[in-house]
Amino acid sequence: MEMKLRVLLLLACLAPTVLAEGLPDLGEASSADLSPQMERRVGETIMRDIRLREPSYIDDVEVAAYLNALGARLSAATPEAARNFEFFALRDATLNAFALPGGYIGVHSGLILAAQTESELAGVLSHEMAHVTQKHLARLMGKQNQAQVAQWLAVAVAVLAARSSPDVSQAAIVAGTAAGVQTMLNYSRDFEREADRIGIQTLERAGFDVRGMASFFERMQKFGRLYENNAPGYLRTHPLTVERIGDMENRILQANYRQVADTVDFQLVRAKLRAGLGTPQEAVTEFESQLKDRKYLSEAAARYGLGLAHMRARQYPAAEREVAELRRLKTSSPMVDTLATDARKAQGDFAAALKLYREARLRYPRNKALLYGQIDALLADRQPQEALKTATAELQLTPSDAALHGLQAKSYSALGKHLQQHRAQAELYALQGQLVAAIQQLELAQKSADGDYFEHSQVDARLRELRLRHAEEMRQKLPL
Ligand SMILES: [Zn+2]
Repeated sequence: MEMKLRVLLLLACLAPTVLAEGLPDLGEASSADLSPQMERRVGETIMRDIRLREPSYIDDVEVAAYLNALGARLSAATPEAARNFEFFALRDATLNAFALPGGYIGVHSGLILAAQTESELAGVLSHEMAHVTQKHLARLMGKQNQAQVAQWLAVAVAVLAARSSPDVSQAAIVAGTAAGVQTMLNYSRDFEREADRIGIQTLERAGFDVRGMASFFERMQKFGRLYENNAPGYLRTHPLTVERIGDMENRILQANYRQVADTVDFQLVRAKLRAGLGTPQEAVTEFESQLKDRKYLSEAAARYGLGLAHMRARQYPAAEREVAELRRLKTSSPMVDTLATDARKAQGDFAAALKLYREARLRYPRNKALLYGQIDALLADRQPQEALKTATAELQLTPSDAALHGLQAKSYSALGKHLQQHRAQAELYALQGQLVAAIQQLELAQKSADGDYFEHSQVDARLRELRLRHAEEMRQKLPL
């Protein structure tokens, strides 16, 4: 009961938040399915909310890069290879994954940790991707009118915010008065079977072991049986029937046996998520005992996890001992280089850290963690000019990288260039969908005493652009 009340309150609190950001205008509501553009905008609205306000959102460039690399391998094997997917992780012990409108796919850390092979994780991702490519969400949402879509959004966010509560789907149904909320929360059986079928095809085409899908789903079901009323989230939204598993096994029998090696990064990401659990000392003990008893899937991952745990415990020389072990094991991954540089930085040795960054970035020029870390170290080493040069050069290649705009703003600030600092900060906010904050930054840039005529006219032009965009969004807001 108490739980239901909490969820109802969440609904009350969250709905205005989501709506305040400007709900997309659905235009002429018709019987047609939601258009891909509109679906993307609905997804962006929810995603923006998750990034800014969801406390369990894992804002970790390495975890995100790994999930998106795995997703890209799968995406390349789907008929719609050009499809835009974005994967993200939430810190949550329950086994769950979900697809949001517009191709955003969320995975709980608990599910990543429970996967014993990369193929198993890929199986869950490919199932979720199939819900997107088969337009299951668009088909469900297309049947609703505008007001119902608004309600759907509120319910979706409430469910996200209170995912771990076993009572949540029930409470959300109680809260959502619109008929058909149940169907919106639980995919129909037909959709599930289609997602299984397409998911297995994708998994096979992408070169993964398709048995991973059935074995993982079966393990999850066993887990569900053990905990009866506290089934893992994934099973609550994706009811697993004996029939479904049977279907899956039949398809898998037709597939060829394939031994697929896991990537190093799969093991390292799992170690990273585990190293973040409990107190720093608990994490150290966990990995130390794994190594002592040789109870690990990969020694490299256990050493990496121990290194990260030592970092959390501020035992930097101990972290560096694990880096040395990883080098001895010939574990090559940018994640190991980032651990090495972080350990040097934490001890104030920026010169050595910067040398490591230069070497590592020759091997992994597109790695974001190394790039951000390098700029950060340059700033800490009081080399703002170099930091600015690096950030600006990279922005030429990836202008929509919000974090880079933030680092550029810091570099300008260190150089005492106020106009440019506020201008860069405005771009960061604009990319995060925070238009009001972006406009405020540009107004500050206008008032800056520095900057030449050319820079001021650039700021004026950008301000006009963003004010128009903001007015447009306000105009499109749904009346509720
Ligand atoms: Zn599903």
